[in-house]
Amino acid sequence: MSIPTSDPQRTDSRRRHTLFLIAIVAAMLLGAVVGGFAKTEIPVIALLGDLFLNALKMMIVPLIVSSIINGVTSLGDIRKLGRMGALTAGFYLTTTILAVTIGMIVVNVIQPGVGVAVTAHIAPAVGEYSFLDVVRAMVPANLFAAMASGDILPLIFFSLFFGIVMSTLGEKIQPLQDAVDGLFLVSMKMVHIIILTAPIGVFALVATRVGAAGGFDAFGRELAAIGRYVITVMAGLMIHAMVILGLLAWFGSRLNPGKVVRQLAEPLLLAFSTASSSATLPVTMKTVQENLNVDKRVSSFVLPLGATVNMDGTALYEAVAAMFVAQCYGIDLSFSAQLLIVLTATLAAIGAAGIPQAGLVTLVMVLQTAGLPAEGIGMILAVDWFLDRCRTTVNVFGDAVGTLVIQRLLQKYLI
Ligand code: ASP
Repeated sequence: MSIPTSDPQRTDSRRRHTLFLIAIVAAMLLGAVVGGFAKTEIPVIALLGDLFLNALKMMIVPLIVSSIINGVTSLGDIRKLGRMGALTAGFYLTTTILAVTIGMIVVNVIQPGVGVAVTAHIAPAVGEYSFLDVVRAMVPANLFAAMASGDILPLIFFSLFFGIVMSTLGEKIQPLQDAVDGLFLVSMKMVHIIILTAPIGVFALVATRVGAAGGFDAFGRELAAIGRYVITVMAGLMIHAMVILGLLAWFGSRLNPGKVVRQLAEPLLLAFSTASSSATLPVTMKTVQENLNVDKRVSSFVLPLGATVNMDGTALYEAVAAMFVAQCYGIDLSFSAQLLIVLTATLAAIGAAGIPQAGLVTLVMVLQTAGLPAEGIGMILAVDWFLDRCRTTVNVFGDAVGTLVIQRLLQKYLI
């Protein structure tokens, strides 16, 4: 993707970008106010939100397939893919474990669950979760079924396999190569156009969600009841984003982390509005390539994978939530039991899909493994939609920072 080079052009595009971001933030605030007073969903507004969300999701399949195949074939030497894979896995795992550790420290210091009265809750039906199922589903039995249900991991597997084989066939399949390149360019352009409607989409999504939560009154009451829990999760997320991811962003880009966040403002605001790393993925891809000059070969590999397996925010949240439940029920966890939570929270975050409140489903596994009551989820359910948005923002930030770090580490191989 080309970056404007001449100065007047650059100033102009920077000004437009700033205005656009202001419009999105204003839309978000307006949405909160409208939903807060409406106290319920307004069908027309909900429809606008759904249209925007659907448009983003619509781009996931063509963009992932074309960008991964295109990325793999343009890598040249397939050994580079192995190196990139190893570095990416190392990055994901390290940052996820750091996030969980920060969560554990914060929750042990603040102790948000101590003294909170356990109200009788029935275990909500959030579904079963098995880490092995996630691994099994990585190889799709039916590619089109995977596409139809928006499962990203099987699509990544297929596209990588396809790209690797394609790169061994050379000239013979040049028309196919051109078609994939074309699909990628068209998909990116479509994402550009969809983003232009973000202020309306973000307004609608936020208004609908705040309305569905019963407006300011109802949400305020819930917040007051378990406010310390919300503060604990948010404090942990802030520390992880600002310290760990901030340092890594600087390492990867040599830019002030604040500047990196500004450049990433669109995907971060969308992550907050949609509560879905996957729905945000097309915008994250466009933004890291165009605003942060990340090599397409890196972003097309690191981001789709990251949207489903790299979830720092979710990992941190799972750890805090499990400890909160233990504290509410007065269950004293030993150091080794807490270590088990660190491990399962990491796995649970890797296994969670990049969709709204997926972390809540995988939290069941963390609670069960740690021997904690699954109905404890009932305690945190009412505020989860809000924390989901906060953790998704950190998830997307972690993915984007990953592209910067991997690009830097692979610098000499990417010529
Ligand atoms: N909504 C999160 C995401 O898409 C996953 C979660 O529920 O934590 O990244």
